[in-house]
Parts: sequence; structure tokens; C-alpha cells
Amino acid sequence: MSGSYERLLEKLKRVHHLGTVAGLLGWDEQVHLPPDSADQRAEQLALIAELQHAAAADPEIGRLLDSLTPIDAAQEVVIREARRDYERVVKLPSEFVAEKARHSSAAYHAWAAAKEADDFTAFAPHLEKHLALAHREAAYLGWGDRPYDYAIDKHDPGLTAARLTELFDELQAGLVPLVRAIAASPVRANPGIFRAFPVDAQREFLHEVTARMGFDYRRGRIDVSLHPFCEGAGADVRMTTRFDVDNPLDSLFSAIHETGHGLYEQGMPLAAQGTPLGQNAGMGVHESQSRMWENQVSRSRSFWNHFEPRLRARFPAQLAGVGSDALYLAVNQVAPTLIRVDSDEVYYNLHILLRFALERRLFSGELTVADLPAAWNALSQELLGLTPTSDRTGVLQDVHWSGGAFGYFPSYCLGNMIASQLWFTVREACAGLDADFERGDFSRLLAWLRAEIHQQGRRYGALELVRRVTGEELTPKYLLRYLEERYAPLYLR
Ligand code: ZN
Repeated sequence: MSGSYERLLEKLKRVHHLGTVAGLLGWDEQVHLPPDSADQRAEQLALIAELQHAAAADPEIGRLLDSLTPIDAAQEVVIREARRDYERVVKLPSEFVAEKARHSSAAYHAWAAAKEADDFTAFAPHLEKHLALAHREAAYLGWGDRPYDYAIDKHDPGLTAARLTELFDELQAGLVPLVRAIAASPVRANPGIFRAFPVDAQREFLHEVTARMGFDYRRGRIDVSLHPFCEGAGADVRMTTRFDVDNPLDSLFSAIHETGHGLYEQGMPLAAQGTPLGQNAGMGVHESQSRMWENQVSRSRSFWNHFEPRLRARFPAQLAGVGSDALYLAVNQVAPTLIRVDSDEVYYNLHILLRFALERRLFSGELTVADLPAAWNALSQELLGLTPTSDRTGVLQDVHWSGGAFGYFPSYCLGNMIASQLWFTVREACAGLDADFERGDFSRLLAWLRAEIHQQGRRYGALELVRRVTGEELTPKYLLRYLEERYAPLYLR
């Protein structure tokens, strides 16, 4: 019996390693690819994708899963999660997978052109087709009566639209009054104080910060790409950021965010790499790790009490006339914007609630694609207090729907809720964390995250993980409390 289990692990690792090869080719494409090499890279990626699909759909995996009976809790997790992955691969006809891939490529280009031309009608038929494909995909997997739940469960196992609606409604009820109060505040942050920060010094500073956080640069690296991301797992984690001499906070916080993802990937048990025990617990949990480091940790007073003198030492002339309060306020700017990716952490959640509400109505048929831009604009006014003046700054701003990635946006907000709930728990469990941060010491926080989250792999879905670690059901009240504690003293004095 143990021989069969070992054989299953071998098969799963094979799938995983092919995935990491694809990941590296993708990383290289975004970081180093010469301008005329894209076609060749596309062929390489297509070949690896084909090999990976064949490895994942290997009928021997199915036979092994049918024959195996777990002898302990670890095996139970591996078999349960491997079955989930296997079924998702074999239940989708290969013609369907090819059709979706073709359509995603066409829809991506149509979206980019429609955004450029500020013309939603040019993208609308592509979005309609993606919705039809999403309904078909759910039906193949046995979720035909709950296609949006399927889309959500794909990213965050165990979550449903109904549960998210409860969580998000409660969040919205607390968040809207907070942003209205901040909007009415006379206090204004001025991020314009950060000008002419040379890239080399920025790079050294963010390297210092991320190494302090605990990122192991012997098992990973950071490079530059247009859109920051984190790729890889275990002993090779590749992160990226981008640099703008007049916006050093963007590169720094992008790097810190990706480092949060990277620490999670580096923190999983290496021996279990490529098996569900060495894989992440879903998008929401992944995002909770990046968000906690980016927001709860790196926007705190204690963090800046440590790093402000170091920042000043690297940029003495640029920061000569900037006081500490102005610097800290600029790091914690809150201001409405139409664009999700430019949003601060308070408004950000409202951008997600908007997308979730619209996706849910698109899937239920309450909302048609033709009516989507008007619905977007109305909800934007209601939640953000801003109405887009163009499709480009409204319904066409995000790339996600062009790839048929529905049910993906909620993970961002879920991540913020999980991060806050974990934050209150870890501060109880490890008294004096602020004093650690003042010294630039993040090791106790990281050790706690390693033990409670990283080392758990895919044992638990987001809801169960939160329940086990915090002793409470997932709730938005900690996110609301955290935002209130961070921003009320700054803006509502
Ligand atoms: Zn992220």
C-alpha cells in the first residue's frame, strides 16, 4: 500500500515540476525576453502546458486514487486534494480546454483594443462568450446549478457566493461610513513629497527591507517587470517589482506585497513540495500573507520608526524638508480613485465589493453584459462616490474578465479580512510585536506565520484555517477594527 502512495507522490511531483518550468519560462518572458522572441516562447509554453496536462490527467493517478486508503491525516489531505485536482483536469474535455485557451487569447487582445479605444461594445461579445464558457465549465464539473459558486470555489475552496455576500454586506455597512468620514476630513496626505529617488538607492533600500522581513535571497530573487508578481515555490521563488523615480512608495510596497507571497511559498514544508501538503491553501489565504506584510506591518508606526532613519540615510537631500508626520501620512494616504490598482487599502475593498456584486448578477442572469457599464457606473457612485467618465476608467480597467477569471476578485478582499483577523490573533499570541518591529526584527511574526499558516499547506480551506488559528469564524469585524485603529487617528482627529 505504501508503494502505491509513494507512486502517487511521484506522479504529483512530476505535474508540479512541469508547472514550475512553465512558471520560470513565464517569469523570464516578463523579465528578460528580447522583443522579437515572443513567438518562440509561446511555442515553448504551449509544449510545457501540453506535457503538464498529460501528466496531470495520467490515468494511473486515477487508478492510484481509487485504490488508496489513507493511513494517517497527512495522507488523507494528499488523497483528498489530489482527487480534487485530478477531477478538475479529467472532467474537462480537451476540446473545451483548447476552446477556452483560444478564446482567452482573442478576448485579451479585444479587451486591450477596446480599453485603448474606450469602447465597451467591442469587448462585450467576448465577455458574453466567456460567461457561456464559465457556465459550461461548471456543468462539466457537476456544478451546473451553481456556476458562480464553482468559480469562487476554484480559487478559494469552501467559499460560496452566499457566504461572501454575508461577509461583504457586513463589511460594506462598516466601511462606507468610514470612507465618507475620511473624505470629509481636512487632513490630506501628500505623496508628492517623494520626488527624484534614484533607482539604485531604491533597490538597495527595498532589498534591505525585504531581507529584514525574512525573505531568503539564497532561495529566491527580485527583478523588474511591468506588473509586479511572485512566481515559484520552495527553493526558487522569483518576485518582481517596478521602479519610478517619482513614486518610490509604489516600488517599495509592491516589493513588500510580493515578499509576503514569497515568504509563504518559501515557508511551506520543502519535503512535501509538489504535493498538497507543500502547496498553498488558496488565493484568499495567499493574499492574506501579502496584505499583512504590505499593510498591517509595513504601514505601522513601529515599522517606520525603524526604517525612517534608514530611508533618510539613503535619500538625505530628497527628504531634507520632509517631517516625520508628513512622511508617515504619505505612507498612509487615503483618497478615492476610480482605478482599483491605484487604490489605498481602505477604498480597495469597495472596488472588490463592486466587482463581486456585478459578477454575481451576471451569473444569475439578473444583469446582462449590455447593461454592465451602466450598472458599474451606478455602483461606483454608490460605493466610491465617483462615477467613471469612460469605460477605460470603469468597466474596462481590469484584465481579469478577458481571461475568463471570474470569482477571482473576491479573493483580494477575503485576503484583507483574513490578514486582519490573523493580525489580532498574532498580537495576542506574541506580546510586544511592536517593540520587535521598532528594532527591525520580524522573526517572531514570521515564525508564527510559518507554524500556523505556511506549514499547513493545503490541509484546510480558508474558512477552516481561520477558525482553527483564530478560534473564531471568519468575520469582517477585524478588518473594520484594524482600518479604524490605523486611520481614525490620522484623519479623524
Ligand atoms: Zn497579491
